[in-house]
Amino acid sequence: MIEVEGVKVDTRHWIGGQRVSSNRTFTDVSPIDESSLGEIAAGGADEVDLAVAAAREAFPGWASMSAAERGDILRRVADGIDARREDLARVETRDNGSLLRSHRRGVMSRVAMNFRFFADYAEKLAHPDLEIRGHRERITYDPAGVTAIITPWNAPLMLATWRIGPALAAGNTVVLKPPEWAPLTASLLADIAHEAGLPAGVLNVVQGTGAEAGAPLSRHPGINRLSFTGSVPTAGIIAAAAAPNIVPLSFELGGKSPLLVFADCDLDLAVDLAVEQFDNAGQVCLGAFRMLVQDSIAAEFQARVIERARALVQGDPRDERTDVSALVSRAHFERVSGFVSRAVEDGARVALGGGPNSELGGLYYSPTILVDAKPGSEILTEEVFGPVLTVQTFADEDEGVRMANETRFGLAATLVTGSPDRAERVSARLNAGTVWVNCFFVRDLGAPFGGNGKSGIGREGGTYSFDFYCDVKNTVFSP
Ligand code: NAD
Repeated sequence: MIEVEGVKVDTRHWIGGQRVSSNRTFTDVSPIDESSLGEIAAGGADEVDLAVAAAREAFPGWASMSAAERGDILRRVADGIDARREDLARVETRDNGSLLRSHRRGVMSRVAMNFRFFADYAEKLAHPDLEIRGHRERITYDPAGVTAIITPWNAPLMLATWRIGPALAAGNTVVLKPPEWAPLTASLLADIAHEAGLPAGVLNVVQGTGAEAGAPLSRHPGINRLSFTGSVPTAGIIAAAAAPNIVPLSFELGGKSPLLVFADCDLDLAVDLAVEQFDNAGQVCLGAFRMLVQDSIAAEFQARVIERARALVQGDPRDERTDVSALVSRAHFERVSGFVSRAVEDGARVALGGGPNSELGGLYYSPTILVDAKPGSEILTEEVFGPVLTVQTFADEDEGVRMANETRFGLAATLVTGSPDRAERVSARLNAGTVWVNCFFVRDLGAPFGGNGKSGIGREGGTYSFDFYCDVKNTVFSP
């Protein structure tokens, strides 16, 4: 047990309704000051075996409950999250450096919503019967079994519960492998779920690194679904590991999304949307980091974005005034720095930032804007996952759309225009799972979410989640 921001957090796994230790541990480091928060149990194949066995044992009981009975428990989990919102917010901020004010203003209520929404949805989930030559066909959503869930550090609790909520509501049991860079709130979630009456073994948490705990989970023959949120290279490894067991996969991966700004736009809005991309220090999969601006307004747009970005307050994420915090780890800091140095060597010009924040030191990387990067260069094509925006210009709609679609990813795209006709035309041509028109980040939990190309496999949200977490069955009755 450790104490973080005044909150007690159990550093062991949660398996079969009990805390389980490991012989080995890993150190959890806070990005705020690179201090150690404590030693966390480092699981491996043995702990994964235990957790999958516990989830398999709990499955028949949980699956045989009605959606309404499961829903009652899951809504109590949501209530428990709401009751401990401030604890969760403080611990997550300390653990991964995300802004405390973001958690207070919405992230943690969304975490509770991930349980409430899918619990309610499962109760109403129904497909109308079909008729063929006098036969009646009934479509039902049966629980699939054990769901393995592997998640990243940038929004650990939100991204984990976005998968856990529907998986449990569908009647599946879960083994979660949280990120080693931000493992703590998953442990608090296990406490909350237990206190809410979630039966033993329905939700299991195995802590550990990707190589030691994630790998044995993804190749485990006892899992029936695998949900992964993370990077493309890891996704490839996981897909190969899961392939021999023919386990259905849901992948939410990286992005390199465009912010497409047309000359007919509301420039204030465009500038707001651009500056918003520095949120979470740019460690956001959906971030629209490639700014594509129509020639005639490019100079003014760029000048205003730079002016606003320069005024952002960088610092300790626990301070409500902070706009931009630190990067999650030393390794990630070096990775982001490397991207910017290579871009500059490759001809890009630094219009803002371009290096560590010299006053703050540590893992604080200054908000950075790069211009004149070479078409096709690394900085325009690879995901940086840091506070680094690029600006490119285009002449007309066709060129703007072409540049926006010049990516192997396809997670999201944002376009800013004052013309409803252009909004219709351009959004239809953009290659992205989500297109935002004159807005950003707004999304109902019932809407499909996922990416095209290298940004992922499949969609989740609403019925799409149940399509994945369930064995959808068709029963045909003779006349
Ligand atoms: P990552 O791929 O390094 O790690 C993600 C998870 O996979 C961690 O829990 C890690 O321990 C585990 N893992 C690592 N190697 C593994 C292996 N061999 N086998 C099994 N599991 C393994 O990603 P990250 O650095 O934690 O997160 C950043 C990435 O996540 C970015 O690419 C970002 O775009 C993406 N992301 C996507 C979404 C989305 O919804 N599309 C949301 C957030 C983040």
